[in-house]
Amino acid sequence: MTSAEVLTLLEQRGALLTGHFKLSSGLHSDRFIQKFRIFEDPPTAESVCGALAELLRSADASVVVSAAVGGILPGYIVARRLGVRDIFVEKEAGTPVLRRGFSLDERDRAVIVEDVMTTGKSTSEVVEVVKQKGARISAIGTIVKRGNATLDFPVSTLLDLPLADYQPDACPLCRRGLPLEDPGSRRS
Ligand SMILES: [Zn+2]
Repeated sequence: MTSAEVLTLLEQRGALLTGHFKLSSGLHSDRFIQKFRIFEDPPTAESVCGALAELLRSADASVVVSAAVGGILPGYIVARRLGVRDIFVEKEAGTPVLRRGFSLDERDRAVIVEDVMTTGKSTSEVVEVVKQKGARISAIGTIVKRGNATLDFPVSTLLDLPLADYQPDACPLCRRGLPLEDPGSRRS
């Protein structure tokens, strides 16, 4: 699947919104990617996440690790395509951890799967959990990369879509008094 095809799918599914949004990173933007418009349609989710799996196949993963909630569906589909285990990191009292009996050890080669990456904050939380467990990070993949994430690992993406994100105190949309929408998925 080419980047243009991914972009067309996002537009067709109504996943690319225009307005004034508070992102889960805290930044403001005039664009928002409502990724669950992709995931709500199983055939679309399959084709997009299947393409991401192919991008990550050479990493020779033993496990896919993603971040709850948004990463769970794409992580599952990628893991199924790669024929490996699928686990996710979630917050416990504000700290990212593995729960539900999930484990990782030094024999694991983890592929971290994201849906939409902006600052890379939730990805870096997953990276820390994987490192703490002594597992190796083989690759990081995201469906859409919309910002310049600062991670120590290269990021593979289906669609590189740099969008204008603003610090709240320097947001031109705030200055124009536009009402702020908060559609973000990360609440803690
Ligand atoms: Zn703003």
